[in-house]
Amino acid sequence: MKDIEKAAGFLNLFADNVSAGMDVEPVTWIRENVVDQQSARSSHIDFTLSPFLLDPIDKFLNDGTVKHINLMAPTGSGKSTLFVGLLNYLIANDAGNTLVAFQNEQETSDFAETRLFPTFRDNKALKDLLPKKRHAARKTEILFPHMNLWMVSATKGQLQSKSCRYLIGDEMWAWEKGMVREFLARHHDRFNRKILMVSQGGDKGTDWVDEYGKGRIHHYHWQCPGCQGWNTYDWRDVIYSKEENIDWERFKESVKMVCPRCSHEIEDTVNNRRRLASGGKYVFSGNTSALPEIVSYNFNALACYWVSWADLAVEWILANQKKRKGDIEPLKKFIQKRLAQNIVDLGEKDDVLKIPLTAESMEGYTVEDERARFLTVDVQKGHFWHTVYAVDAGGSFHLLSEGRLEALEDIECKQSQFNVPDHCVALDCAFDTDAVRKICGLHHWFSMNGTVKEEYLHKIKSRGVKLIYAPLEQHIVEGVKCLHFNFSSQRAKDVLAARIKSGNWKVPHDVSAEYIKQMQAESKQESIDKRTGRVSLKWLASGNNSHMWDCSCMAVIFAMIHRVI
Ligand SMILES: [Zn+2]
Repeated sequence: MKDIEKAAGFLNLFADNVSAGMDVEPVTWIRENVVDQQSARSSHIDFTLSPFLLDPIDKFLNDGTVKHINLMAPTGSGKSTLFVGLLNYLIANDAGNTLVAFQNEQETSDFAETRLFPTFRDNKALKDLLPKKRHAARKTEILFPHMNLWMVSATKGQLQSKSCRYLIGDEMWAWEKGMVREFLARHHDRFNRKILMVSQGGDKGTDWVDEYGKGRIHHYHWQCPGCQGWNTYDWRDVIYSKEENIDWERFKESVKMVCPRCSHEIEDTVNNRRRLASGGKYVFSGNTSALPEIVSYNFNALACYWVSWADLAVEWILANQKKRKGDIEPLKKFIQKRLAQNIVDLGEKDDVLKIPLTAESMEGYTVEDERARFLTVDVQKGHFWHTVYAVDAGGSFHLLSEGRLEALEDIECKQSQFNVPDHCVALDCAFDTDAVRKICGLHHWFSMNGTVKEEYLHKIKSRGVKLIYAPLEQHIVEGVKCLHFNFSSQRAKDVLAARIKSGNWKVPHDVSAEYIKQMQAESKQESIDKRTGRVSLKWLASGNNSHMWDCSCMAVIFAMIHRVI
């Protein structure tokens, strides 16, 4: 029975498309028939001015394989115009019951009465289809002879009991949780259902963020006139003067877009912005496991030629100034409304790490099945902090020694006391780099440095492999050769925290209180990248010293380099 239904469905769809007068492309039909007096840019709806809307329109009207389209778009990018164009087209060419849901009553009646209905009256193609008498009490619905159009606010009562082929949702980020499920239940699994959800960026935990993530994600790209490469519209590629005392007029002239591939610079002019956007295209950017019937599109205000990049940069700078004074709202708005990005965490926030203590004592601690031991040192002005860890065959770290050291001789003492081989001693060289490297070179120790990089590319057997530490470097300081490793500070901390949380970090019960305090000095917190506005979780210090935490990170990296974990 199901297969027969499907076959019938396919035939109907085919028939629908034939009867839809497909000799004219929908976008052309809309331009020729729909007059939108309220539109900001042109009284006839011309989607070629908003090229980032063409693919979503095509998928909605012409592609039978796609059932659900998510469009995450900046505010003021012509979303209302999109609805006006689509609804006019559907009524004249591809009718079916349609439900359009808005975030509240006010938005619903504003759109219906002041925006949409006048376009129906002005559309000659709808002349014979409009009902002669409209029910006076219901201002946000039209019962046509061949279909119903309902416009409602996204509340439980309003969303229930309608059965629709087309579902269109507006500003989904503001919908109350659970309303998307009510909304989607309205299509009753029709084979020819079409769902369009449109929104700015939303917050973690909202239905919108979940729905957007279910689709095959496409970002709008521009083609570099310099190298012909395709780049996503990325806020990081907008450059501007970083002068302290800003002269806003001069500042605006400094704003440019730079190709991340070839550094070609594009001036911020209407023509340039328009040329880039109209030559742009969507590029599939990820989420291969998503169902092909759900497609998510994203573009941001940089692709809207009528918005100057300079104005965006000013907004960005002011929002960051507010943020520094503790008001994060303007920056959040910029990210969600201008960059059209969801604000989500990349992982769960960590509270203060618990350091479990064992029944062992520091004194005379022996480790079974020991594979290696490492002495790692954080260099401060005039003193040092150190840790010594042994790593066993199971990959657990055992703390053998920790604490502050006053002189270089103390490090040498610790090395011989714990019998640590030269190639298992490392000093952090962030402070007084050359002097530290010289010391390391003379002792046949390594120098190390944590960086902001996330990963490093290694060539292993002519293959590229990404690791969280860098390939070995050799430095010569005053004729002394020193071997050096950089590593990703954030990722090392992730590995360290994972070891501790999984019980692979053995700390004797009589360890110093200072060690525990320093190991708990950092926690993973939400952090906004000042340049990109992206929110991520980062290890940040609480204010206490974290020198032995840094030593422990070095020990973890060292164990990875020596392949014992
Ligand atoms: Zn380029």
